[in-house]
Amino acid sequence: MFVVMAVEATEAELNAVRSIVLEEGLTPHENRGGERVVIAILGEAGARLERLADRLGALPAVESVTRTTRPFKLASREFHAEDTIVRVGDVAIGDGSFTLMAGPCAVESREQLFETADAVKAAGATILRGGAFKPRTSPYSFQGLGLAGLRFLAEARERTGLPVVTEVMEPGQVEHVAEYADILQIGARNMQNYSLLMGVGRTGRPVLLKRGLSGTIEEWLMAAEYVLSSGNPNVILCERGIRTFETYTRNTLDLAAVPLLHQLTHLPVVVDPSHATGKRWLVKPLAVGAAAVGADGILVEVHPRPDEALSDGEQSLTLAQFAELAAAVRPIHEAVRAQGRADVLAPSVLRVGGDKH
Ligand code: PEP
Ligand code: MN
Repeated sequence: MFVVMAVEATEAELNAVRSIVLEEGLTPHENRGGERVVIAILGEAGARLERLADRLGALPAVESVTRTTRPFKLASREFHAEDTIVRVGDVAIGDGSFTLMAGPCAVESREQLFETADAVKAAGATILRGGAFKPRTSPYSFQGLGLAGLRFLAEARERTGLPVVTEVMEPGQVEHVAEYADILQIGARNMQNYSLLMGVGRTGRPVLLKRGLSGTIEEWLMAAEYVLSSGNPNVILCERGIRTFETYTRNTLDLAAVPLLHQLTHLPVVVDPSHATGKRWLVKPLAVGAAAVGADGILVEVHPRPDEALSDGEQSLTLAQFAELAAAVRPIHEAVRAQGRADVLAPSVLRVGGDKH
Protein backbone atom coordinates (compact mmCIF):
# COMPACT_ATOMS: atom_id res chain seq x y z
CA MET A 1 0.00 0.00 0.00
CA PHE A 2 1.23 3.50 -0.85
CA VAL A 3 0.11 6.70 0.80
CA VAL A 4 0.38 9.68 -1.54
CA MET A 5 0.61 12.88 0.49
CA ALA A 6 -0.84 16.19 -0.65
CA VAL A 7 1.69 18.64 -2.09
CA GLU A 8 1.22 20.99 0.86
CA ALA A 9 1.47 18.28 3.57
CA THR A 10 3.45 19.49 6.59
CA GLU A 11 6.01 17.58 8.64
CA ALA A 12 3.44 17.22 11.46
CA GLU A 13 0.97 15.67 9.01
CA LEU A 14 3.63 13.27 7.78
CA ASN A 15 4.33 12.35 11.38
CA ALA A 16 0.67 11.53 11.90
CA VAL A 17 0.85 9.00 9.05
CA ARG A 18 4.13 7.57 10.34
CA SER A 19 2.77 6.98 13.83
CA ILE A 20 -0.40 5.26 12.61
CA VAL A 21 1.72 2.92 10.51
CA LEU A 22 4.17 2.23 13.35
CA GLU A 23 1.27 1.64 15.78
CA GLU A 24 0.21 -1.21 13.51
CA GLY A 25 3.67 -2.75 13.73
CA LEU A 26 4.38 -1.87 10.08
CA THR A 27 7.24 0.16 8.57
CA PRO A 28 6.78 3.44 6.69
CA HIS A 29 9.34 4.07 3.95
CA GLU A 30 9.32 7.44 2.22
CA ASN A 31 10.10 8.69 -1.22
CA ARG A 32 10.43 12.46 -1.36
CA GLY A 33 9.72 13.00 -5.03
CA GLY A 34 9.92 16.31 -6.86
CA GLU A 35 6.53 17.52 -5.64
CA ARG A 36 5.11 15.24 -3.01
CA VAL A 37 5.99 12.54 -0.54
CA VAL A 38 4.88 8.96 -1.13
CA ILE A 39 4.99 6.60 1.83
CA ALA A 40 5.21 2.87 1.21
CA ILE A 41 3.85 0.73 4.02
CA LEU A 42 6.03 -2.32 4.42
CA GLY A 43 5.13 -5.48 6.31
CA GLU A 44 2.20 -7.89 6.41
CA ALA A 45 -0.96 -5.96 7.19
CA GLY A 46 -3.20 -8.97 6.60
CA ALA A 47 -6.82 -8.43 7.62
CA ARG A 48 -6.01 -4.98 9.04
CA LEU A 49 -5.30 -3.58 5.60
CA GLU A 50 -8.83 -2.39 4.84
CA ARG A 51 -9.27 -0.52 8.10
CA LEU A 52 -5.77 0.97 7.92
CA ALA A 53 -6.36 2.22 4.38
CA ASP A 54 -9.62 3.87 5.47
CA ARG A 55 -7.99 5.46 8.49
CA LEU A 56 -5.09 6.89 6.50
CA GLY A 57 -7.31 7.93 3.59
CA ALA A 58 -9.42 10.00 5.98
CA LEU A 59 -6.48 12.23 6.98
CA PRO A 60 -6.74 15.65 5.32
CA ALA A 61 -3.09 15.73 4.17
CA VAL A 62 -3.41 12.36 2.43
CA GLU A 63 -4.29 12.72 -1.20
CA SER A 64 -4.80 9.04 -1.97
CA VAL A 65 -4.08 5.56 -0.73
CA THR A 66 -3.24 3.03 -3.42
CA ARG A 67 -3.17 -0.70 -2.96
CA THR A 68 -0.72 -2.79 -4.88
CA THR A 69 -0.84 -6.49 -5.47
CA ARG A 70 2.78 -6.50 -6.57
CA PRO A 71 5.13 -8.03 -4.02
CA PHE A 72 7.88 -5.49 -4.73
CA LYS A 73 7.17 -2.07 -3.29
CA LEU A 74 10.29 0.10 -3.07
CA ALA A 75 11.42 -1.08 -6.49
CA SER A 76 8.09 -0.16 -8.10
CA ARG A 77 7.20 2.82 -10.27
CA GLU A 78 4.07 3.32 -8.18
CA PHE A 79 6.25 4.18 -5.21
CA HIS A 80 8.97 6.04 -7.05
CA ALA A 81 7.78 7.58 -10.31
CA GLU A 82 11.07 9.27 -11.29
CA ASP A 83 13.94 7.26 -12.76
CA THR A 84 16.63 6.43 -10.23
CA ILE A 85 20.01 7.75 -11.28
CA VAL A 86 22.90 5.84 -9.73
CA ARG A 87 25.98 8.03 -9.40
CA VAL A 88 29.46 6.59 -9.20
CA GLY A 89 32.08 9.31 -9.12
CA ASP A 90 31.41 11.42 -12.22
CA VAL A 91 29.42 8.66 -13.92
CA ALA A 92 25.63 8.66 -13.86
CA ILE A 93 23.73 5.49 -14.74
CA GLY A 94 20.05 5.88 -15.59
CA ASP A 95 20.14 9.57 -16.58
CA GLY A 96 19.46 8.92 -20.25
CA SER A 97 23.10 8.30 -21.14
CA PHE A 98 24.45 4.91 -22.26
CA THR A 99 27.10 3.63 -19.88
CA LEU A 100 29.81 1.34 -21.21
CA MET A 101 31.18 -0.95 -18.51
CA ALA A 102 33.99 -3.10 -19.81
CA GLY A 103 37.00 -5.12 -18.79
CA PRO A 104 38.17 -8.68 -18.37
CA CYS A 105 36.01 -11.46 -16.98
CA ALA A 106 38.74 -12.09 -14.41
CA VAL A 107 41.66 -9.98 -13.31
CA GLU A 108 44.63 -12.14 -14.27
CA SER A 109 47.61 -9.83 -13.80
CA ARG A 110 48.43 -6.16 -13.39
CA GLU A 111 49.60 -5.95 -17.01
CA GLN A 112 46.49 -7.65 -18.42
CA LEU A 113 44.21 -5.38 -16.40
CA PHE A 114 46.09 -2.15 -17.19
CA GLU A 115 46.27 -2.91 -20.91
CA THR A 116 42.53 -3.61 -21.01
CA ALA A 117 41.62 -0.64 -18.81
CA ASP A 118 43.59 1.83 -20.95
CA ALA A 119 42.02 0.50 -24.15
CA VAL A 120 38.40 0.39 -22.96
CA LYS A 121 38.75 3.88 -21.57
CA ALA A 122 40.10 5.15 -24.89
CA ALA A 123 37.09 3.54 -26.61
CA GLY A 124 34.60 5.32 -24.34
CA ALA A 125 34.03 2.99 -21.39
CA THR A 126 33.39 4.86 -18.14
CA ILE A 127 33.35 1.90 -15.74
CA LEU A 128 36.00 -0.83 -15.51
CA ARG A 129 34.85 -4.37 -14.79
CA GLY A 130 36.99 -7.25 -13.56
CA GLY A 131 36.42 -10.25 -11.32
CA ALA A 132 38.72 -10.89 -8.38
CA PHE A 133 36.53 -13.59 -6.84
CA LYS A 134 35.09 -15.74 -9.60
CA PRO A 135 32.02 -17.98 -9.27
CA ARG A 136 33.13 -20.84 -11.54
CA THR A 137 30.93 -23.78 -12.46
CA SER A 138 33.89 -26.09 -11.87
CA PRO A 139 35.92 -26.04 -8.65
CA TYR A 140 38.97 -26.89 -10.77
CA SER A 141 38.74 -23.72 -12.89
CA PHE A 142 40.63 -20.49 -12.14
CA GLN A 143 38.92 -18.95 -9.13
CA GLY A 144 40.34 -15.44 -9.45
CA LEU A 145 43.25 -13.66 -7.78
CA GLY A 146 41.21 -12.65 -4.72
CA LEU A 147 42.77 -9.85 -2.71
CA ALA A 148 45.59 -9.33 -5.23
CA GLY A 149 42.92 -8.85 -7.90
CA LEU A 150 41.15 -6.23 -5.79
CA ARG A 151 44.44 -4.37 -5.37
CA PHE A 152 45.10 -4.39 -9.12
CA LEU A 153 41.59 -3.02 -9.68
CA ALA A 154 42.25 -0.18 -7.26
CA GLU A 155 45.54 0.54 -9.06
CA ALA A 156 43.77 0.52 -12.42
CA ARG A 157 41.26 3.02 -11.05
CA GLU A 158 44.14 5.26 -9.91
CA ARG A 159 45.72 5.00 -13.32
CA THR A 160 42.64 5.59 -15.48
CA GLY A 161 40.17 7.36 -13.21
CA LEU A 162 37.57 4.70 -14.07
CA PRO A 163 35.41 3.49 -11.18
CA VAL A 164 35.44 -0.30 -10.85
CA VAL A 165 32.75 -2.95 -10.57
CA THR A 166 33.65 -6.34 -9.14
CA GLU A 167 31.76 -9.30 -7.76
CA VAL A 168 31.26 -10.08 -4.10
CA MET A 169 30.34 -13.71 -3.52
CA GLU A 170 29.68 -14.05 0.20
CA PRO A 171 28.22 -11.96 3.01
CA GLY A 172 31.50 -12.20 4.96
CA GLN A 173 33.39 -10.60 2.04
CA VAL A 174 31.18 -7.56 1.61
CA GLU A 175 33.06 -5.06 3.76
CA HIS A 176 36.37 -6.16 2.41
CA VAL A 177 35.34 -5.92 -1.27
CA ALA A 178 33.60 -2.60 -0.59
CA GLU A 179 36.97 -1.15 0.49
CA TYR A 180 38.17 -1.53 -3.10
CA ALA A 181 35.11 -1.55 -5.35
CA ASP A 182 32.96 1.37 -6.45
CA ILE A 183 30.11 -0.92 -7.52
CA LEU A 184 29.43 -4.29 -5.88
CA GLN A 185 28.37 -6.94 -8.36
CA ILE A 186 25.97 -9.67 -7.30
CA GLY A 187 26.42 -12.57 -9.70
CA ALA A 188 23.62 -14.49 -11.36
CA ARG A 189 24.25 -17.48 -9.12
CA ASN A 190 23.72 -15.32 -6.04
CA MET A 191 20.62 -13.38 -7.06
CA GLN A 192 18.63 -15.05 -4.30
CA ASN A 193 21.35 -15.11 -1.66
CA TYR A 194 19.34 -12.99 0.73
CA SER A 195 21.97 -12.50 3.41
CA LEU A 196 24.37 -11.29 0.71
CA LEU A 197 21.73 -8.91 -0.65
CA MET A 198 21.11 -7.47 2.80
CA GLY A 199 24.87 -7.22 3.35
CA VAL A 200 25.43 -5.14 0.22
CA GLY A 201 22.27 -3.22 1.08
CA ARG A 202 23.78 -2.09 4.37
CA THR A 203 26.90 -0.67 2.68
CA GLY A 204 24.98 1.93 0.65
CA ARG A 205 27.51 1.30 -2.14
CA PRO A 206 26.00 1.00 -5.67
CA VAL A 207 25.03 -2.58 -6.49
CA LEU A 208 24.95 -4.23 -9.91
CA LEU A 209 22.39 -6.99 -9.52
CA LYS A 210 22.55 -9.68 -12.18
CA ARG A 211 19.47 -11.64 -13.11
CA GLY A 212 19.57 -15.23 -11.86
CA LEU A 213 19.95 -18.06 -14.37
CA SER A 214 16.31 -19.01 -13.89
CA GLY A 215 15.12 -15.84 -12.23
CA THR A 216 11.75 -14.43 -13.23
CA ILE A 217 11.50 -10.67 -13.48
CA GLU A 218 9.44 -10.65 -10.31
CA GLU A 219 11.99 -12.73 -8.38
CA TRP A 220 14.70 -10.40 -9.64
CA LEU A 221 12.81 -7.33 -8.48
CA MET A 222 12.25 -9.02 -5.11
CA ALA A 223 16.02 -9.48 -4.90
CA ALA A 224 16.40 -5.75 -5.60
CA GLU A 225 13.78 -5.14 -2.90
CA TYR A 226 16.10 -6.82 -0.35
CA VAL A 227 18.84 -4.33 -1.18
CA LEU A 228 16.50 -1.34 -1.22
CA SER A 229 14.79 -2.27 2.04
CA SER A 230 18.20 -2.63 3.69
CA GLY A 231 18.65 1.09 3.11
CA ASN A 232 20.48 1.16 -0.21
CA PRO A 233 18.68 2.92 -3.09
CA ASN A 234 21.56 2.49 -5.56
CA VAL A 235 20.65 -0.64 -7.48
CA ILE A 236 21.41 -1.27 -11.15
CA LEU A 237 19.72 -4.29 -12.72
CA CYS A 238 21.73 -6.35 -15.21
CA GLU A 239 20.04 -8.66 -17.71
CA ARG A 240 22.61 -11.34 -18.59
CA GLY A 241 20.50 -13.98 -20.28
CA ILE A 242 18.47 -16.77 -18.80
CA ARG A 243 18.55 -20.55 -19.01
CA THR A 244 16.31 -21.93 -21.74
CA PHE A 245 16.24 -25.08 -23.89
CA GLU A 246 18.49 -23.42 -26.50
CA THR A 247 22.04 -24.72 -26.70
CA TYR A 248 23.67 -22.69 -29.50
CA THR A 249 24.02 -19.81 -27.08
CA ARG A 250 25.25 -19.95 -23.49
CA ASN A 251 22.02 -18.29 -22.31
CA THR A 252 19.05 -16.62 -23.99
CA LEU A 253 19.11 -12.84 -23.81
CA ASP A 254 15.72 -11.54 -22.69
CA LEU A 255 15.67 -8.14 -24.34
CA ALA A 256 11.96 -7.70 -23.63
CA ALA A 257 12.94 -7.47 -19.97
CA VAL A 258 14.50 -4.06 -20.59
CA PRO A 259 11.42 -2.03 -21.64
CA LEU A 260 9.30 -4.14 -19.30
CA LEU A 261 11.51 -3.24 -16.36
CA HIS A 262 11.45 0.41 -17.33
CA GLN A 263 7.68 0.20 -16.84
CA LEU A 264 7.72 -1.78 -13.60
CA THR A 265 10.64 -0.13 -11.86
CA HIS A 266 12.53 3.15 -11.58
CA LEU A 267 15.89 1.35 -11.35
CA PRO A 268 18.37 1.57 -14.25
CA VAL A 269 18.77 -1.53 -16.42
CA VAL A 270 21.94 -2.59 -18.20
CA VAL A 271 22.58 -5.60 -20.43
CA ASP A 272 25.48 -8.05 -20.42
CA PRO A 273 25.69 -9.45 -23.96
CA SER A 274 28.83 -11.45 -23.11
CA HIS A 275 27.37 -13.94 -20.63
CA ALA A 276 24.08 -13.83 -22.53
CA THR A 277 25.60 -15.40 -25.61
CA GLY A 278 28.93 -16.97 -24.68
CA LYS A 279 30.15 -16.17 -28.21
CA ARG A 280 32.37 -13.27 -29.18
CA TRP A 281 30.78 -12.67 -32.59
CA LEU A 282 27.31 -12.35 -31.04
CA VAL A 283 28.29 -9.69 -28.52
CA LYS A 284 28.17 -6.68 -30.85
CA PRO A 285 24.77 -7.41 -32.45
CA LEU A 286 23.20 -7.93 -29.02
CA ALA A 287 24.87 -4.83 -27.60
CA VAL A 288 23.29 -2.91 -30.48
CA GLY A 289 19.99 -4.62 -29.61
CA ALA A 290 20.34 -3.56 -25.99
CA ALA A 291 20.79 0.07 -27.05
CA ALA A 292 17.82 -0.26 -29.40
CA VAL A 293 15.45 -1.43 -26.64
CA GLY A 294 16.49 1.44 -24.39
CA ALA A 295 18.99 -0.11 -21.97
CA ASP A 296 20.89 2.31 -19.74
CA GLY A 297 24.19 0.68 -20.63
CA ILE A 298 26.06 -2.55 -21.22
CA LEU A 299 28.60 -4.69 -19.36
CA VAL A 300 31.07 -6.30 -21.75
CA GLU A 301 33.99 -8.68 -21.32
CA VAL A 302 37.20 -7.60 -23.06
CA HIS A 303 40.65 -9.19 -23.06
CA PRO A 304 43.87 -8.18 -24.83
CA ARG A 305 44.34 -11.78 -25.96
CA PRO A 306 41.04 -13.62 -25.54
CA ASP A 307 42.53 -16.95 -26.64
CA GLU A 308 44.79 -16.87 -23.58
CA ALA A 309 42.09 -15.79 -21.12
CA LEU A 310 41.82 -17.80 -17.90
CA SER A 311 38.04 -17.45 -17.98
CA ASP A 312 35.35 -16.72 -20.56
CA GLY A 313 37.80 -16.19 -23.42
CA GLU A 314 35.28 -17.38 -26.01
CA GLN A 315 32.94 -14.53 -25.24
CA SER A 316 35.60 -11.88 -24.64
CA LEU A 317 36.15 -9.17 -27.24
CA THR A 318 39.59 -8.06 -28.34
CA LEU A 319 40.50 -4.44 -27.60
CA ALA A 320 39.85 -3.49 -31.23
CA GLN A 321 36.49 -5.29 -31.27
CA PHE A 322 35.40 -3.38 -28.18
CA ALA A 323 36.23 -0.08 -29.87
CA GLU A 324 34.14 -1.19 -32.86
CA LEU A 325 31.25 -2.13 -30.60
CA ALA A 326 31.38 1.22 -28.82
CA ALA A 327 31.20 3.05 -32.15
CA ALA A 328 28.28 0.86 -33.28
CA VAL A 329 26.08 1.36 -30.21
CA ARG A 330 26.50 5.13 -29.93
CA PRO A 331 24.30 6.19 -32.90
CA ILE A 332 21.65 3.60 -31.95
CA HIS A 333 21.45 4.99 -28.45
CA GLU A 334 21.24 8.56 -29.78
CA ALA A 335 18.39 7.61 -32.14
CA VAL A 336 16.44 5.83 -29.40
CA ARG A 337 17.02 8.64 -26.96
CA ALA A 338 15.70 11.17 -29.46
CA GLN A 339 12.42 9.23 -29.58
CA GLY A 340 12.02 9.40 -25.80
CA ARG A 341 10.91 6.62 -23.51
CA ALA A 342 7.38 5.21 -23.68
CA ASP A 343 4.85 6.57 -21.18
CA VAL A 344 4.38 4.48 -18.09
CA LEU A 345 1.47 2.09 -18.64
CA ALA A 346 -1.39 1.42 -16.27
CA PRO A 347 -0.61 -1.39 -13.80
CA SER A 348 -3.46 -3.50 -15.22
CA VAL A 349 -1.63 -3.68 -18.56
CA LEU A 350 1.40 -5.01 -16.77
CA ARG A 351 -0.09 -8.12 -15.27
CA VAL A 352 1.88 -11.31 -14.97
CA GLY A 353 1.22 -13.77 -17.78
CA GLY A 354 -0.84 -12.46 -20.67
CA ASP A 355 -2.18 -14.18 -23.75
CA LYS A 356 -0.20 -17.30 -24.45
CA HIS A 357 -0.89 -17.70 -28.19
C1 PEP B 1 30.69 -12.17 -14.58
O1 PEP B 1 30.20 -11.06 -14.79
O2 PEP B 1 31.90 -12.43 -14.77
C2 PEP B 1 29.81 -13.28 -14.16
C3 PEP B 1 30.29 -14.33 -13.48
O3 PEP B 1 28.55 -13.12 -14.56
P1 PEP B 1 27.20 -13.93 -14.17
O4 PEP B 1 27.06 -13.83 -12.69
O5 PEP B 1 26.15 -13.15 -14.92
O6 PEP B 1 27.36 -15.32 -14.68
MN1 MN C 1 32.66 -13.95 -17.15
